[in-house]
Amino acid sequence: MSTEDRSEAEAGAESIAPVPQDNNPLLAWGSIPDFAAIRVEQVVPAVRFTLARAAADLDALEAAADGLPISEIVGRSEELEDRLGWTWGLVNHLNSVRTTDALRQAITEVQPEVVTFHSRLGQSESLYRAYLSASAAGASAEPALARTVELALRAMRHGGVGLSGDAKEAFNANQQQLAQLGMEFGNALVDATKAWHRDLTHEDDIRGVPPSVRGLMAQNAQLAAIDGSEAASAEAGPWRLTLDPTCVMPFLEYADRRDLREVVYRAWIGRAGPDGDPKLDNSERIARILALRKAQAQILGFASYAEFSLDAKMAPSVADALGLLASLHESSKPAAQRELADLTAFAKAEGAAEPLALWDVAYWARRLREARYTYSDEDLKPYFPLPRVLEGVIALVEKLFGVAIREGDKTGWHPDVRWFDVLSDGAPIAGFFLDPYSRPADKRGGAWMNELRGRSSRLAPPGQAVRTPIAYLVCNQAAPVGDKPSLMTWNEVSTLFHELGHGLQHMLTRVDLLPVAGISGIEWDAVELPSQFMENWLRHPKTLASFAKHYETGAPIPASLVERVLAASTYRAGSAFLRQIYFARLDLELHHGFDAASGASIWDVQRTVAADNTVIPPLPEDRFLCSFGHLFAGGYAAGYYSYKWAEVLSADAFAAFEEAGLDDDARVAEVGRRFRETVLGLGGSVPPMEVFKRFRGREPSTEALLRHNNLS
Ligand code: ZN
Repeated sequence: MSTEDRSEAEAGAESIAPVPQDNNPLLAWGSIPDFAAIRVEQVVPAVRFTLARAAADLDALEAAADGLPISEIVGRSEELEDRLGWTWGLVNHLNSVRTTDALRQAITEVQPEVVTFHSRLGQSESLYRAYLSASAAGASAEPALARTVELALRAMRHGGVGLSGDAKEAFNANQQQLAQLGMEFGNALVDATKAWHRDLTHEDDIRGVPPSVRGLMAQNAQLAAIDGSEAASAEAGPWRLTLDPTCVMPFLEYADRRDLREVVYRAWIGRAGPDGDPKLDNSERIARILALRKAQAQILGFASYAEFSLDAKMAPSVADALGLLASLHESSKPAAQRELADLTAFAKAEGAAEPLALWDVAYWARRLREARYTYSDEDLKPYFPLPRVLEGVIALVEKLFGVAIREGDKTGWHPDVRWFDVLSDGAPIAGFFLDPYSRPADKRGGAWMNELRGRSSRLAPPGQAVRTPIAYLVCNQAAPVGDKPSLMTWNEVSTLFHELGHGLQHMLTRVDLLPVAGISGIEWDAVELPSQFMENWLRHPKTLASFAKHYETGAPIPASLVERVLAASTYRAGSAFLRQIYFARLDLELHHGFDAASGASIWDVQRTVAADNTVIPPLPEDRFLCSFGHLFAGGYAAGYYSYKWAEVLSADAFAAFEEAGLDDDARVAEVGRRFRETVLGLGGSVPPMEVFKRFRGREPSTEALLRHNNLS
């Protein structure tokens, strides 16, 4: 730890001294808070107080570390991180589900202090030494503790704690530059996306585009105050076409005007590229990011950034990740070729010009899908009222894992939020809040699971053996209107199953050491196993039929409708697979074999990878890498393969139930108990490959994923 960090922490401690911490609900660490009592003025004092407490605890721990057993060191850092995690997590949760300008401001005010504390903790040399000697001495006979030590060491090493002198200086300087470049990349992408538009004024320009998208485009025109737009309407226009995905994607799928599809497609793949505004050109940033990442990896002793990235992932090596992609490629590529031939034949029969261009694919794929599987979301929704879907997924969880889920009366942050207890043998072992409905005014979109608190024996309330874990499950479906329940789309049902899957791994953990309990400590490419696993149950007709009943008549969902939905779920699967393989391979090539010093460019790499991983090659002027935020402004660098990696795991896990016989409740329950004991129970306390093998009796296979997608 540097002296600079310490003086900052102390300055922080002084400034919080007079804060009255009594009655501040944000300081009721580890409890289920009194949400109604939380006020925005309490945020800054609570976070500062918690930070000061954590800093003081860390000072004491660092001073004593030499003489303490490793279990005590881990336990004390567990405590100090938990308090901060609880308060800071709660504040951020409220910002997601009940935000106000004042709350955002309060968070912005203290965020840098939280970041500073975390980097101090991650670079604590005395803790690093303590972990290192514990590891050398065999850490502990207790696997969870040993794994905690190894994970902490790995994270600290990756953060550069083991470096010194010039290497450390270079590492830290590179890190700053990378953060800066990532931010610039993201900003340039946002600006380049905003900078392009095309105003459409003739009815013919917009032929085929559905009313909802026309409405959005008319609204775009109104916001931009273009001529005649004061009265812009979905029916009469004018309509502004933009590069926002909610606009460009449906336009490419629906617009009959081929020339306009081409215009917007070319704008889309050229965003933030070298042929546009030089200030927004991301290509030079990509080259610098790749060079800096490589340098960082090499300072830490890895040959490439991909090797560094995979050091903290389940995939054992770059070769293994590439091997998975190659094996999926084998069946995806021929399938994608067949799908293209199929699409071309359909388009030709409907009078399209040949061959299909890149801006034709989404359009004809949508038309073929409509012709083949005649149903819409609206046909399904009456069979998915939230109360029945909840009953259904709860019954499934109870059957699979032998727990009981009962609604309780704890109060959340909004009247629509509900509380559920999870019981095992009649005793509460966990709980979760469910916040199902969208509230556009103050709740973020999307769906997620988060932790209110994790399972821990050290932090158990007096008289109890453990502190039980609690999760937040947040969705964004339409609220009920009058007596009519919230009717869910297929995607919303699938999302609820998905988030509950994450929640189950958090709640059914048997590990009581926070850093490796539940979803904590699980490698990035393995974390989606339980969530996607739960989604798979929707493909089981009997499970679906058990709850999909009409909200008015109670009539079961027609079997023919279920058939069409399941068939549509594998429509053009080969093309979808190949696209993900293309991105994942490109990502690994750029972060592994690529060397700018050899004179090759990122475009050469893209061309080579595309040649084998697309069925219509990209245009020579395709610059989509310049808008690939996952790799250059997000967390997916040398990790894009994770999407497919995790799908292999979840499909293969589901296949264990298929092998037992999905309709055989007794055998399904038997496999379910094993899933609970391993995947859900062990959390991050055991390396994920080992966890998988304990459940499945072998390493993962791609067989089930390919079979589920008709790609075998
Ligand atoms: Zn997920």
